[in-house]
Amino acid sequence: MKIIMLGAPGAGKGTQAKMIAEKYGIPHVSTGDIFRANIKNGTKLGLEAKQYMDKGLLVPDELTVRILLDRVAQDDCKNGYVLDGFPRTIPQAEVLEAELARRGEKIDYAIDVEVPDENIVRRMGGRRACLSCGATYHIEHVPPKKEGICDVCGQALVLRDDDKPETVQNRLNVYHEQTQPLIAFYQERGVLKTVDGTQDMADVFAAVTAILGT
Ligand code: ADP
Ligand code: AMP
Repeated sequence: MKIIMLGAPGAGKGTQAKMIAEKYGIPHVSTGDIFRANIKNGTKLGLEAKQYMDKGLLVPDELTVRILLDRVAQDDCKNGYVLDGFPRTIPQAEVLEAELARRGEKIDYAIDVEVPDENIVRRMGGRRACLSCGATYHIEHVPPKKEGICDVCGQALVLRDDDKPETVQNRLNVYHEQTQPLIAFYQERGVLKTVDGTQDMADVFAAVTAILGT
């Protein structure tokens, strides 16, 4: 099963993608997590991606597509995957579609997690991330057991640089301009499904599993 999560930054794509990955036994592939791991490790890719990410801009398609295609070519992706944060532009979606078609494959579901902009701004300010293992928390909705410390790996949690309020509005503008057109793209292909992302995470997940089946 090949699934794409669509939705604004902070809509809950990563939260749902992790739950899908666990339930259906497929890898969760997040281009944002791949970039952040590279930034943390000080790689050339990380240095390049950071210049864009810190401003709330998208990393150029050429770089992002290469990273994603390398990742989904790995062995653990052969029975499917859930993509979180990719594609984010029409050209990215076209390259993915062409690459899949070359292998006689296609995306099965594109799930749009709908959340209005006002809710997003509140959510992002409360998000705390572990840059070590990729776990995410929310200071009100999903607090860690011990304040500021990751439940999974014990590392310190941070407010991502790009979750600071001045960057969030930029990211939302970029989302509306460059990513939202993907909703029509996948609707035309008959694979678009929409869930109300303003509900509790468990209710959002119930809507997701109703789509994907048990
Ligand atoms: P995205 O991957 O779309 O950027 P995340 O999954 O990281 O979004 O979620 C953004 C923030 O909102 C996180 O702090 C997360 O814990 C919280 N969150 C996710 N889903 C919900 C929900 N349904 N209700 C309330 N908070 C949520
Ligand atoms: P995310 O963790 O998905 O919110 O992504 C964080 C940041 O990484 C984004 O704001 C972009 O700067 C960059 N990024 C992640 N995925 C992509 C993508 N598919 N295309 C371009 N930039 C991306």
